[in-house]
Amino acid sequence: MQAATSNIEEIFLPELRAKEVRLFVKREDALHPVISGNKYRKLFYNIAFAKKKGYSKLLTFGGAFSNHILATAGAGFEFGFKTVGIIRGEELGVDIEKTLLNNETLRRAKDYGMQFEFISRSDYKEKSSQSFLLTLKQKYPNAYILPEGGTNDKAIQGCEEILNDHTEDFEFICCAVGTGGTISGIINSSSKHQQVLGFPALKGDFLENEIKGNKVNKNNWEIIPDYHFGGYAKINEELITFNNNFFNTSGVLLDPVYTGKMFYGIVDMVNKDKFAKGTKILAIHTGGLQGISGMNNVLAKKNMPLLIDRNI
Ligand SMILES: *Cc1c(COP(=O)(O)O)cnc(C)c1O
Repeated sequence: MQAATSNIEEIFLPELRAKEVRLFVKREDALHPVISGNKYRKLFYNIAFAKKKGYSKLLTFGGAFSNHILATAGAGFEFGFKTVGIIRGEELGVDIEKTLLNNETLRRAKDYGMQFEFISRSDYKEKSSQSFLLTLKQKYPNAYILPEGGTNDKAIQGCEEILNDHTEDFEFICCAVGTGGTISGIINSSSKHQQVLGFPALKGDFLENEIKGNKVNKNNWEIIPDYHFGGYAKINEELITFNNNFFNTSGVLLDPVYTGKMFYGIVDMVNKDKFAKGTKILAIHTGGLQGISGMNNVLAKKNMPLLIDRNI
């Protein structure tokens, strides 16, 4: 894999102008057409390690719309590994043709050669247990196993490279949080004068401990728990409208699971005067755009308004 850099762009919105706060976005979503955003960073040193050690397969875990599943499939295809995805939901395996027809994430992962195992939600809960991992190692002896969401020490090391000399100028760095791996890397490479804000995409009281458990090297960070919209992948019309308006005004497409909630939170905090006049904020666009179409399928079934997708 190539060491990567992404551009920083300013976002112009009436709310920002009114409060004299400047908001910028680092376009990690544009790092790679398939292995996008923070998933590229998280895989980078893992792939290098797996290559060096002579593994022939990558094996990982995820839900049916997982950005990490598709990123792993794409990385395997590009860098010469077979890939295995252990997918939550055994019902999806009953009629695979139908599942693939209705699920773009899994369809594309399969196009990149990923082999699936669909397992029940209760088995899936065991995915980090020693006995479950041992069974997988016996079944797939030459597989390098990545945890759900891809977070491990090498992933955090990769995420340390999201910040660089060009990001020194910002007082606040914002990122969406799932497992906490990405923000841990960002904290490590941030400067002491910067404040790192994490916007969880789920109800995650455990996240602060997770991040501390990653032995981050500074305490210049804070979790903002107010913008998860009820939980992981839960969204409402207000968020849909926000994402669509954001695209129409700024030209930057957001995903509904992570970056939409973060930007919603940032703009809400600006409106509530949480940032002083003249503050410069940098938000990390961690990608996830592949998930829009899957979310739109769900929204269509509920007769809800649709999200703008990149193909429209
Ligand atoms: C996976 C993901 C995250 C969360 O990253 P963590 O390292 O698990 O906290 C954030 N944004 C997007 C778009 C993602 O796909």
